[in-house]
Amino acid sequence: MSPMQPGAQPEQMTQEQFLRQLRLTLEKLPNEIPLYLFTRPGQDDVFVQAARQLVRSFRELTDKITFREYALDHEMARRYRVDRAPTLLFAPERCSIRWLGAPLGEEGRTFLEMIILLGLGQSNLNDQAKKVLKDLQEPRSVKVFVSATCPYCPQQAVNGVRAAIEKPELVSLEIIDIQSNPDLANRYNAHSVPQTFTNEVLTGMGAQPEELFMLSMKKLEEVTVFIPDSDAPVVDTDLLIVGGGPAGLTAGIYAVRSGLKAAVVERGALGGQVATTPVVENYPGLTQVGGKALVDIMVSHALQYVQIFQGEAVIDIQPGDPIEITTSRRKFRSKSVLLATGASHKHLGVPGESRLSGKGVSYCSTCDGPLFKGKKVIMVGGGNSAVTEALHLHHMGVDVTLVHRRDTLRAQQYLVKNLEENRIPVLWNTEVKEIKGKDRVKEVLLVDNRSKKPSTLKIDGVFLSIGYEPAVDLARKIGVALTEDGYIRRDAKHRTNIPGIYSAGDVEGGYKQIVTAAGQGSEAALSIFEDMMHPYWEKVKAQA
Ligand code: NAP
Repeated sequence: MSPMQPGAQPEQMTQEQFLRQLRLTLEKLPNEIPLYLFTRPGQDDVFVQAARQLVRSFRELTDKITFREYALDHEMARRYRVDRAPTLLFAPERCSIRWLGAPLGEEGRTFLEMIILLGLGQSNLNDQAKKVLKDLQEPRSVKVFVSATCPYCPQQAVNGVRAAIEKPELVSLEIIDIQSNPDLANRYNAHSVPQTFTNEVLTGMGAQPEELFMLSMKKLEEVTVFIPDSDAPVVDTDLLIVGGGPAGLTAGIYAVRSGLKAAVVERGALGGQVATTPVVENYPGLTQVGGKALVDIMVSHALQYVQIFQGEAVIDIQPGDPIEITTSRRKFRSKSVLLATGASHKHLGVPGESRLSGKGVSYCSTCDGPLFKGKKVIMVGGGNSAVTEALHLHHMGVDVTLVHRRDTLRAQQYLVKNLEENRIPVLWNTEVKEIKGKDRVKEVLLVDNRSKKPSTLKIDGVFLSIGYEPAVDLARKIGVALTEDGYIRRDAKHRTNIPGIYSAGDVEGGYKQIVTAAGQGSEAALSIFEDMMHPYWEKVKAQA
């Protein structure tokens, strides 16, 4: 079908004209499209009738569609493992696409597009989405829940169709109409549509752009921001930013706005600690926002300006002119480098902690909290993070006790009040001395640090939130000077002791707020821009 011209009104086309055009389009399709409808003997409900009627109407338009109807007890149902009615199979010798229910209402659009793609024998995926699917190695079984009245569903269902056509050997698709399959909708809790599950994991709430659908399906998690890949072996920049947290992303925006060619390299998840913060409060403009939601907003904003290389670790930095940076994927040659490497979780360092990490010991309540619903855990720490996360666990239905080494909390008064109001128990003046359990956490050995009295507590999990250590390995390796506390030493313009190397964010110490990290990122970018215009190191060299 030719795409609709901008401004064209579908109403302007009469039904007769539409059918004529559709007939012509179907006529030109190079491949036959076999359709098999499976029904239950004796069942001739509205869904079966609608499915049959739809296929018949299409067959009147083209002989490219062949149609067979089988009962569920037929050999063909066993062959294709069909056990529900009505089920439609589409070209089952070429790909694995089935429709549980009937393509009613809005779903007629999906049906039409599916017929055309199957007839063409191509997915018509965009290049980015194709690239994502190219290196998919493992099978993916996709379920898209849809309903006849949902205008967003066709986009998501067609995403699934495209994936199943592009990778027929690995991707199988079920489009599930929730009205005719309420038991499946209940089992998957799919009461808002479209909803997509891949290998039984929720990978899409709502309609996704093609490339995000493919990436979520590949990664088996819902991905909300797509960052295009780059194949370039060497990239030249004015500013290379190491770290994609609030400081690095803000620096990227400000640098590019100033006219610098900048790039951000991030080895892990974008957003740094914010990505796993359950709730962020009082980021200006937002009274409360989920950490991941804030990160998505920041990343989408940054991507409007700066190129981001995610999943790429900086391995080496060679100061010079240009500075040479080696990552796990390529080289960068840059006039300046901003270290915005942030900070990582502090460890308690007690016996059992590292052995049982991931087996009941966790540093991330947002990630692991749901696994402890209805179970008993402790949260160790007395700062803002520990209290925020204890509240988060409590609201999730986890039986949490805060364990703090002193008799007052470091956390803000508002959070302390919230903790009290929610009656979350606190063990004061208590230290964890050992975490015990064979394969999983079973109990902790505690000590009252006033009376020195030991005790054991039977629990299922230990969450640790005892602060952060700056990530300074790279800085140390290239000789960047550190403060006594181990943070990067820098001047008021965020310059380190090495010309062309700057820092911003939590790696510099200070208040460790998202808003201060973002502020430091913008300051550093502006100062780098000024230094590029008037290089201070030239002056230093001239004076030497
Ligand atoms: P933090 O403020 O440094 O607090 C760390 C807590 O862990 C302290 O209560 C500390 O006890 C305890 N602790 C440290 N080492 C310990 C050990 N070995 N054994 C037992 N307890 C230990 O860290 P944070 O709560 O992660 O916060 C980090 C930064 O992020 C802070 O600047 C914080 O304000 C900021 N943040 C802000 C918000 C917000 O604004 N809403 C939310 C989260 C984090 P002591 O008190 O005895 O030292």
